[in-house]
Amino acid sequence: MSLKEVLIDEMRDLYSAENQIIKALPKTIKQVSDDKMKALLTAHLEETKGQVVRLRTIFEHLGKKPTGKHCSGMEGCIKEVTEALEEDEEGALKDAGIIGASLRTEHYEIAGYSAAIAMAKTLKEDEVVKLLTETLHEEQTAAKNILSGATSILKEADAQEDEEDEEEEDEEKDPQEKESEEKSKEDEEEAAPEMEKATTPKTEKKASK
Ligand code: FE
Ligand code: ZN
Ligand code: FE
Repeated sequence: MSLKEVLIDEMRDLYSAENQIIKALPKTIKQVSDDKMKALLTAHLEETKGQVVRLRTIFEHLGKKPTGKHCSGMEGCIKEVTEALEEDEEGALKDAGIIGASLRTEHYEIAGYSAAIAMAKTLKEDEVVKLLTETLHEEQTAAKNILSGATSILKEADAQEDEEDEEEEDEEKDPQEKESEEKSKEDEEEAAPEMEKATTPKTEKKASK
């Protein structure tokens, strides 16, 4: 395997990721309450279609086909967005969950494009670097816009929480939530042997008080 093949693999992964977003984003947009956030995500959906076309152009330039690898990372990111959509929260509180999951999605893309660009630079594939960088900038701008659009929504969500606080006390957990809780416990337990070797456990105590 050559570095060029690793780059092709990375780009196939990104191609799958972008297509997954195009499939999932309309459902997300429908459930967002905040008009500005809705407009922002709608614009980014259109931008994403351009990113798919851009990737096809790169593949054509390299004489390869764009398909061949499913991006499991994006599948996970989108699963988290879906989980946020399934919460029975409404309005700003629901938007807050969607924002958290969407921002992770953007940063996952940023990581993928950054790595691909570094590889293309090493290979002196200038045209590939140029096109991938255009997309990287779109992703960075999208992440920035989501975060700045979040400010007012989060304030609203904070006010909303006070009104609804009492209802949440003895809520039943569904099987999916229980499974997630158990897995998280396992994560902690499996990390424990390594954590015991940590050289900075003292700061943890200070922070928790
Ligand atoms: Fe994208
Ligand atoms: Zn991936
Ligand atoms: Fe994006």
